Amino acid sequence: MTIVDIIEKKRDNQVLSKEEIDYFINGFVAGEIKDYQASALLMAIVLNGMSNQETVDLTNAMLYSGDINDLSSIPGLKCDKHSTGGVGDKVSLVLAPLLASANATIAKMSGRGLGHTGGTLDKLEAIPGFRIELSTDEFLDTLKQHHLSIIGQSGNIVPADKKLYALRDVTGTVQSIPLIASSIMSKKLASGSDTILLDVKVGKGAFMKDEQQARALAHTMVDIGKSLNKDVKAVITDMNQPLGYAIGNSLEVIEVIQTLHNKGPQDLTEISLKLGAIMLVQVGLVSNEQEGYQVLKAKLEDGSAFNKFREMVIAQGGDVSVIDNPDLFDKARYSEDITSDKTGYLYDIDALKVGHVALELGAGRHKKEDAIDYAAGIILKHKVNDKIEVGEVIGTLYSNKEIPSTIKEMFKESLSIKEEKNNDTALIKEIIT
Ligand code: URA
Repeated sequence: MTIVDIIEKKRDNQVLSKEEIDYFINGFVAGEIKDYQASALLMAIVLNGMSNQETVDLTNAMLYSGDINDLSSIPGLKCDKHSTGGVGDKVSLVLAPLLASANATIAKMSGRGLGHTGGTLDKLEAIPGFRIELSTDEFLDTLKQHHLSIIGQSGNIVPADKKLYALRDVTGTVQSIPLIASSIMSKKLASGSDTILLDVKVGKGAFMKDEQQARALAHTMVDIGKSLNKDVKAVITDMNQPLGYAIGNSLEVIEVIQTLHNKGPQDLTEISLKLGAIMLVQVGLVSNEQEGYQVLKAKLEDGSAFNKFREMVIAQGGDVSVIDNPDLFDKARYSEDITSDKTGYLYDIDALKVGHVALELGAGRHKKEDAIDYAAGIILKHKVNDKIEVGEVIGTLYSNKEIPSTIKEMFKESLSIKEEKNNDTALIKEIIT
């Protein structure tokens, strides 16, 4: 077997065997297969696709390219959730303590933001002192004591994906359902949880721009889970407007705190309760989603979910005074209210453009090495279908650098105001089991 034979086979739209896929992944991780050869194969996969079995074999080969977390010392079923990435997507920060307060154990390995989408780790690091790097023993101890921990991906989890993703990023080979599905699923499976809920975002601010694509990705990932005997479910959720009102790291943590006090935005609260209810069924703590929803709602109302968040912050070295008093978060030096030029209904918020505005304000990074301005971001004043009067403030921009007029214009352009209301605003579009 040679890599050239494998590339030619995929170029000619033939099905690769498990042995050929293992040969590629092992050789690539070992450095024996060169980047230019891997790039050629990746492009052939983008163009010709993969069968379900090939996608499962690719996921497995990637999964076993590095360490797999062993959570067997933690009692009960462990659950995990993954979002394909959105703007203002702070659901994990609400969901994890909410589930832990209802006795589910959630062991989460999260990522950083890149480009217009935010990352859970960056949001957590907006809390002074919060440690996202824990030793394995610290991670396991935190899970045993508090039922939750959120950390970064440890060094040797799925090295194949680290190398492949870096290459895909610079060779135009990101957009491929088998490649995205195997990349996400290998990392989720290596994290060691028993059950996984995938939140596949669809819309302008998401990886998948249309529902058909989002559905195909969700089905592929759920099927990978089934083939590997894991309980994997997926929900398709809207990313045609940001979740909640806050975009930007400390601004989002403040909104999470409000939500955990049961005073948060309706969409964020609702999606957290609904996803949480599915996850409670997955780990067998309730018998149906309605029951799960009620259990979690009670945890928001009686303060237990907020207390769990506090516990996690303390356990991971964060300064709990900012959690108790969010006014203590550092404030941005500059802020600008943006007003509407029109009267009408807010029809659409282009989450992609809003994400770019947040990025330019300093809330995200263009390159991995860039520093983040934790106080930077946007507070939207309205959700889709709200009535807006001309001259009314539609959002406030925050940054530690002066805010140029081009950014203010870009923000204005990201909101479309029309005479009619938008009828397509369902938050959860489909649940795939
Ligand atoms: N997220 C991932 O982890 N991998 C992809 O390929 C795309 C999005």
